[in-house]
Amino acid sequence: MAEAALPANPLVEAGLLTPIGSDGLYARSRAYEEVTDALQRLLGGMPQVRGSEALGLPSLITAKELEAHGYFGNFPQLAARVYTCHCEGTERAFQPSQLALLPAACYPLYPLLAARGVLTQARVFDVRASCFRNEPSREPWRLQAFRMREFVFAGAAAGALEFRAAMMEAAAGLAAALGLRAEMEEAFDPFFGRANNILKAAQLESGAKFELVAAVEEGRFAFASFNSHGEMFGAKWGIRLADGTPASTCCNAFGIDRMAVALFLTHGVDARRWPDSVRDILQLHAG
Ligand code: 5GP
Ligand code: ZN
Repeated sequence: MAEAALPANPLVEAGLLTPIGSDGLYARSRAYEEVTDALQRLLGGMPQVRGSEALGLPSLITAKELEAHGYFGNFPQLAARVYTCHCEGTERAFQPSQLALLPAACYPLYPLLAARGVLTQARVFDVRASCFRNEPSREPWRLQAFRMREFVFAGAAAGALEFRAAMMEAAAGLAAALGLRAEMEEAFDPFFGRANNILKAAQLESGAKFELVAAVEEGRFAFASFNSHGEMFGAKWGIRLADGTPASTCCNAFGIDRMAVALFLTHGVDARRWPDSVRDILQLHAG
């Protein structure tokens, strides 16, 4: 595509974001961060997640854990490993370390939960991390590094489905209150290679993934996903219920940066001029 045909990014033009050398990598201004902070606060205050256990996670995961999740097989195109220097004397050689960049906030939770022992009651976790995906782009909603907030349920199968349904309803309600044009859609992950079509079809057929998709003048993009894992992670990581069966899990992921971008593209690049109702919900007070 010719340079001139690329969509302009209103957030960059307004100084909310400043490109820092690689497509989809930006420095964020205070005005932008006020909105992402407000979104984090709003999501954390949802009544559906009251009593959840909060965990802040680093933006790194061991390559071994990510491999065990199947990530390098299913999404090699999005993955990135960390190289570190093995420096001896004057020699410098960068070699793969044991670490990879974290592609989704919930991944480290499952082994952590398994290590705690039997799950005696259903739990909800509130996890957040800065995530990385290797997909440089100039589309305003496609970043290489972005913040993700996830609400993860672990417990019995019925509880997992109920929690996901409640989160979908709550999220759609929040989107409407924020004045976003959003639609809930069945979805599938961008699996790599030949496994692609089979896995996609299975995901669609089982209703494993739904997304909230925002429509703005510049295009459409998912800003939240609601993923039902059944017993897959429970069995894989050994998260057991009191009766010895694997726990069922679901994760409900909110892309904080995508939500902010959706708001700026919908209501304009100056948050001080957003509708009062939207500013009120976000508690963006004058001053
Ligand atoms: P998923 O794991 O369902 O692919 O992603 C969960 C959420 O992370 C998405 O719904 C979206 O909000 C956010 N996300 C995924 N990829 C990107 C991206 O390239 N840029 C931004 N800003 N957010 C993303
Ligand atoms: Zn997740």
